[in-house]
Amino acid sequence: MGEQQSALFPTYARFPITMVKGEGSRLWDDQGNEYLDFMAGLAVTGLGHAPKRVKERLVAQLDELWHTSNLFSTPQAEKVAQLLTANSCGDAVFFCNSGADANEAAIKLARRYNQKVLGNDRYEIITFKQSFHGRTLATLTATGQDKVKEGYLPLPQGFIHAPYNDVAALESYITDKTCAIMLELVQAEGGIIVADPDFVQEITRLCEKYNLLLIIDEVQTGLCRTGKLFAYQHYGIEPDIFTLAKALGSGFPVGAMVGKSKLIPAFTPGSHATTFGGTPIAMSAALATLEVMLADHLADEAARKGKLLVDKLEKALAGNAFVKEIRGTGLIIGIECVEPTADAIAAIHAKRLLVVPAGPMVIRLLPSLIVTDEEIDKAVEIIAGVLAEKEAERKQTAAK
Ligand SMILES: *Cc1c(COP(=O)(O)O)cnc(C)c1O
Repeated sequence: MGEQQSALFPTYARFPITMVKGEGSRLWDDQGNEYLDFMAGLAVTGLGHAPKRVKERLVAQLDELWHTSNLFSTPQAEKVAQLLTANSCGDAVFFCNSGADANEAAIKLARRYNQKVLGNDRYEIITFKQSFHGRTLATLTATGQDKVKEGYLPLPQGFIHAPYNDVAALESYITDKTCAIMLELVQAEGGIIVADPDFVQEITRLCEKYNLLLIIDEVQTGLCRTGKLFAYQHYGIEPDIFTLAKALGSGFPVGAMVGKSKLIPAFTPGSHATTFGGTPIAMSAALATLEVMLADHLADEAARKGKLLVDKLEKALAGNAFVKEIRGTGLIIGIECVEPTADAIAAIHAKRLLVVPAGPMVIRLLPSLIVTDEEIDKAVEIIAGVLAEKEAERKQTAAK
């Protein structure tokens, strides 16, 4: 970037690297350095960078039609919706442009279903501490972290934050205004915290008892990341609504909210809309991405590779006093450390492996679903090397 001042709002604490090219699990910066990418654009490039079969579909679509507005049908949107509902518990899809946008639609649908279909005045949604649901005013209010709310008062009403994985406490958060419970099954930004099966069981019991909607935020966990097409499939449950975004377009911005048939009457013409949702280009990216994920059994691949990666990390980091715990499911993995990880992450980047924090103490690994066993070996070697140095530094400081 040289001497010139950036003309962007400084909303991101960016790494001091400028990326210019990507292919598979590799990225190149403007200095020609090659990186092994174990963050995949934050769980977006599941098929790797510039996946050929998605690119071909996109290029073909660019020749045909870019945009029509949602006042017309397009075959692409119908096909993606068919594929999503055929492979999930959902019956209808609303397309939008991001994860926050999908969660916003879910929140609106939950309220409107209660107010217009059930005819009650319930609007409160129980979400969880440390959760992350997006940056619009409603979704940042749903988010269970104070740092995203600072300076944005007043916040919209109707969100209550319960402790995550706390079976005993949950029922006490339900009021006569509660209409839904919304959660991530792996709290991702919150530090890679996996929902306990008995906690999820309690949630479904309470949803039934009080007639609440169950909303699962699959924006990060969805689309093979956890070793199933959707994370809810690990738990034998059927959410009323689940939301998708990150990996759905392989990097082309696209979000989706998927809901059960009983919710369909709640969204009548004019009740919700977005200009770019389901545009033919976005739908071509999503269609090709889903077809590749299903044809190549990438959920099973993510399960196998995730297990391999965790096994190798556990071996390589055994006895390392800098490391507290390795956890995750499929290819969403966290290494929790006993001290803040910013320096360790910078050192890992300097060795040309890209990882990302999940909170101050956790190193998050989100390789692409097509990561190879050799790339896993290389990443483990780099991480183990850096964390061994961190352990040695810690021992030295303690000895002083
Ligand atoms: C990233 C993320 C979001 C927000 O998605 P955006 O596309 O950034 O709006 C919401 N929920 C979860 C779980 C996420 O990981």
